[in-house]
Amino acid sequence: MDNNFLAELLFGDVKTTPDEIFAKYPPRTLPEKAAVTRFAPSPTGFMHIGGLYAALVSMLTAKQSGGVFYLRLEDTDKKREVEHGADEIITSLAKYGVIFDEGAAADGEAEKGNYGPYRQSLRRGIYQTFAKELVRQGLAYPCFCSAEELDEIRAKQEAEKADIGYYGEYAKCRSLTIEQIEQNIKAGREFVLRLKSDGSAENKIICRDIIRGKIEMPENITDVVLLKSDGIPTYHYAHAVDDFLMGTTHVIRGDEWISSYPIHEQLFKVSGFKMPLYAHIAPIMKLDGGENRKRKLSKRKDPEASVSFYANAGFPAESVLEYLMTIANSGYEDWRMKNPDADMSEYKFKLEKMPVSGALFDMDKLASVSKDVIAKMSEERLAKEITLWASVHDEKLSAFITASPEKFAESISLWKYNGKKVRKDIAKWSDLSAMFPYLYSNDEITEYEFDERISDSDRREFLNAYIAAYNHDCDSSQWFADVKTIAEPLGFCPDIKAYKASPDGFKGSVADACAILRAAITGRKNSPDLYSIIQLLGKEETVKRLSKAAK
Ligand code: GLU
Repeated sequence: MDNNFLAELLFGDVKTTPDEIFAKYPPRTLPEKAAVTRFAPSPTGFMHIGGLYAALVSMLTAKQSGGVFYLRLEDTDKKREVEHGADEIITSLAKYGVIFDEGAAADGEAEKGNYGPYRQSLRRGIYQTFAKELVRQGLAYPCFCSAEELDEIRAKQEAEKADIGYYGEYAKCRSLTIEQIEQNIKAGREFVLRLKSDGSAENKIICRDIIRGKIEMPENITDVVLLKSDGIPTYHYAHAVDDFLMGTTHVIRGDEWISSYPIHEQLFKVSGFKMPLYAHIAPIMKLDGGENRKRKLSKRKDPEASVSFYANAGFPAESVLEYLMTIANSGYEDWRMKNPDADMSEYKFKLEKMPVSGALFDMDKLASVSKDVIAKMSEERLAKEITLWASVHDEKLSAFITASPEKFAESISLWKYNGKKVRKDIAKWSDLSAMFPYLYSNDEITEYEFDERISDSDRREFLNAYIAAYNHDCDSSQWFADVKTIAEPLGFCPDIKAYKASPDGFKGSVADACAILRAAITGRKNSPDLYSIIQLLGKEETVKRLSKAAK
């Protein structure tokens, strides 16, 4: 077969040579150990938490080695693409501090970097140039098989209990003559371009995965598709061409790609491209029906699979990152314990220490990590973050803040501290309205957690007496003294210890009187300091609530 003739027949309009392309993609000049990594999503408009995780570890690998981290958009599947998918990826990652050194830019903005274009849809000519070269070398051929023909091959293989795929004797179009090919082309028949695999099932290849170590696999024997009938490359071929030209040193990707590694190994080899290193990361999982039934977080089934879920709930970005780091490297938590105030970027991240099997996403753990993160935030920072979040996600809280930023600032101190100690109650901003509706909404309290040991009539009697004698403008010790003075004649022992020693003859102690007030004002059995709450609410609102509870 005259391969040059075939190459011209298939790719007559491709005039560029591989050398011309190589000249545009010189090897990068970086320090010896510098890693070049990339995040290579399909712009489907959905940012999966696993995507953020992969982007984070890819960025750390590059940044900590003085390398380059870039964004490549794998936008060859137009059916899955959404409008502004790239913007969505770039902006949602930026909120988590994932910033690219180079690569695809938001729509309408210029790309950064000399190794682009970084959108695969703009690289068609490049793939075709290398594909044409493979044809010239007799390493690739056109395949005209229709879907029906492929089905037939499959049925035959099933009947013969042979491996499924387009290979060896089953690869019909491998043996087409140049005349047959010419005829097909003239007749306008569509074709895909296939690799002419020289692999043998007996041979083994080895993937030296950074995370998993040595993985032995049979060599690829399939004549995989390189270019689809529209001339657009498959993932496999684009991966080889792009990661080689763009100078990727570490391909960090989901472990669902391990089984395709033999194809990639062969494609790099036949193309004469130096292979990058590979790190296949285990996905983030969840339990589904029973202890041992782990599955990947699913875009369709699990709201928590989406990065936006965390932002909507009001988890600070730092909390999510901090939690992802605990999954990424088990040593992270120890480090954090020893360096409570250090910036995350000071941690020496190690790709080789990533877990081999899928970690379970643990919401409780995220919440606990987040409580620590929030506890460390200054009041100014809290005010800023919460204001921003509430303006999009919590109308009532936002109205409260806008009505009085000062009051809001006071309310932060209220739940942030217990005396001098910093409390750790809040894991996400949506907890605020859930935990302190009595502060942040004007909704009437409809359920009261009153202590049943005190009868309804005793409670009312105390509340009415309290309202009648109520003095709002006093300090906290006077306030407490007043509660005692009002409660004592009604049968509440003013001394808690004395009451505990001999409760007989009392309705309760001053602590019980305070509990009545607390429930009347907040609805709850537990709350931050009641005096401070009252001061925040103001006299009018306090009396209004007491009166309603007394009815
Ligand atoms: N577009 C591929 C994916 O989203 C990229 C895999 C890779 O990083 O090579 O799975």
